[in-house]
Amino acid sequence: SFPRRRGLPEKRRIRDVKKVVAVSSAKGGVGKSTVAVNLALSFARRGIKTGILDTDIFGPSIPTLLNLSGEPRLDEHNCLVPLTNYGLKSMSMGYLLPQTQTDSATGEVPMDTTPITWRGLMVTKAMHQLLHSVSWGPLDVLVMDLPPGTGDVQLTINQEIIIDGAVIVTTPQDIALRDAVRGFGMFERMNVPVLGMVRNMAYFACPNCGHQTRIFSHGEDHHPHSHGVDRGVLAECKRLGVDFLGDIPLDAQVCEDADRGKPTVVAEESAEQSARRQAFLDVA
Ligand code: ADP
Repeated sequence: SFPRRRGLPEKRRIRDVKKVVAVSSAKGGVGKSTVAVNLALSFARRGIKTGILDTDIFGPSIPTLLNLSGEPRLDEHNCLVPLTNYGLKSMSMGYLLPQTQTDSATGEVPMDTTPITWRGLMVTKAMHQLLHSVSWGPLDVLVMDLPPGTGDVQLTINQEIIIDGAVIVTTPQDIALRDAVRGFGMFERMNVPVLGMVRNMAYFACPNCGHQTRIFSHGEDHHPHSHGVDRGVLAECKRLGVDFLGDIPLDAQVCEDADRGKPTVVAEESAEQSARRQAFLDVA
């Protein structure tokens, strides 16, 4: 178990939240936030009361993904009121520290001129608020988008609140997979059960002919039941005794949906969209 530092408050449950599911990746850019938001929307679609908490300090992407912005208001208990879209409640560092967000019109990142020590304090305060002072109302599941990596922020969050389970997002690439295994080790040390791994960008589905290409293949572990899809992640899951939760294809539409703030699970109905959506629903 992880040694508790002196003087820290007892680890608590987030008020009015039944289960906290953390979505993590050892590296940035593997699609952690995309999977987290689509997972949360999949739960919401099934009538499960769901929220998403974006704890990514330096690259909060939930506001963009859910097409939400603006400062959250405080309720009578001085708790932050989540912003809601597509039936999903959300709270994000991006709402509290607006200077870290890109300008949605120009795509430019404004220069943050806040002195570094102030910034540190602001981040600490904002993180505390995010973890302890959000009025989620009754929620069945809170999906927590963790910052990438296995560093201090992840440890701090785990020391302050109870995480019921973790989902690890990886790509089939060798390096990403090795990092994912490191992430697994972190959760083991923190005594957080790992619910399973998601293999994002598993294959490229050609929009014209439907042919599936394994972009990130590293040519190992061919198996008659692997349906031509990379098996490195499957083998790793087996070795670690972790569930494999599913494949998400590398698909330009998934990226486009994310960019315009209407994630795949809630994007317009069409035959192709329903297939894409199903990949996320299967993981949920
Ligand atoms: P992370 O949270 O791991 O940094 P993001 O979820 O922000 O990663 O995704 C990084 C980029 O990759 C985004 O532009 C996103 O739209 C894109 N992306 C993520 N998953 C897919 C996918 N399955 N197919 C196509 N693009 C994807």
